[in-house]
Amino acid sequence: MPKIYNFGAGPAKMPEEVYEIMRNELTNFDGSGISLLETSHRTKAYMQFNTEVQNVVRRLLDVPANYKILFMAGGGTGEFAAVPLNLMSRTGTADYVVTGDWSAKAAKEAKKYGKVNLVLPPTDRYVGIPDQSEWNLDPNASYVHICTNETIHGVEFDFIPDTKGVPLVADMSSNIMSKKVDVSKFGVIYAGAQKNIGTAGVCLVIVREDLLNQALPICPSLFDWTANAKADSILNTPPMFAIYVMGRVLQWVERNGGVEGMAQLAAKKASLIYGAVEESNGFYSVPVAKNARSKMNVPFRIGSPANEDLEKEFLKGAEALGLIQLKGHRNVGGIRASIYNAVSIEEVETLVKYMKDFQNLYV
Ligand code: PMP
Repeated sequence: MPKIYNFGAGPAKMPEEVYEIMRNELTNFDGSGISLLETSHRTKAYMQFNTEVQNVVRRLLDVPANYKILFMAGGGTGEFAAVPLNLMSRTGTADYVVTGDWSAKAAKEAKKYGKVNLVLPPTDRYVGIPDQSEWNLDPNASYVHICTNETIHGVEFDFIPDTKGVPLVADMSSNIMSKKVDVSKFGVIYAGAQKNIGTAGVCLVIVREDLLNQALPICPSLFDWTANAKADSILNTPPMFAIYVMGRVLQWVERNGGVEGMAQLAAKKASLIYGAVEESNGFYSVPVAKNARSKMNVPFRIGSPANEDLEKEFLKGAEALGLIQLKGHRNVGGIRASIYNAVSIEEVETLVKYMKDFQNLYV
């Protein structure tokens, strides 16, 4: 079997070293002689690990003491509901900055629980982030929701918006732990684990303490941040294995330069691909404005106008070389290279070499 280069958008490539650790620990968690898969969530060993995962998140992102770190079931989509269920009671209305399909989905879910104000004019062409001077923010909003990296469109915030005291809530599912973040600028940060921090089944939530104790009465206990904070994220049987994987991935991040180390790598990897696009004399193109180009998900087209047959050829040739999961999301088409923390520079260089070779065949 040839070496596989996995550029999938999620569930995404995991660090090799973490697999090695997990292989060794699979049937013997913490020296107990049994697997974590058959360990009670009330054991000392699990509870200690649960605390260590919270601590490593705190260390990596410098999370201030007045924030709780929670492990919630239900993935990113679960939090699309949990955010309004926990915060909409403040004023009954919330601001949503829609910059791609994921923030659009979050806004749609929130409408079930209150009034949603769309901060930007509606569009289905997401190619950038309008300047904040063009935003229609409601000073009475319960919170302002953004998605810091739109996985499908490759649109990433390169700034933290000023919401004039209204709590800022951010979906960081596809760029958490890829760069330093000033957590104190956010009311809530959440991130499904299956891209940069592990596997599906758990969503990391970082919430400022003054935003607790406001859940709507209909909020299910499982989605209630306050109930989960009180139970230290062991309200019921948690997705223990996913939390364990998150812990091992985050410890790997820590051993590899922390978020600053990841940020340097991300900048290098992204510039290799965007550079190849720039140098291609229009053979490849990226629809996204330069200041909003994602360092995690790089979408590009081939030909102008886009030539879908050529794109199919590109994907076929890539697969033959072991470069897989490069097909753009079905909503946008084209190609998308996802280059999360676990994807190495060498792997990106291999992709870039293939892009150049492919171009040479056709021009
Ligand atoms: N937000 C973003 C930015 C995502 O990329 C995704 C999944 N790709 C989600 C939310 C939804 O996550 P989940 O599938 O865990 O519900």
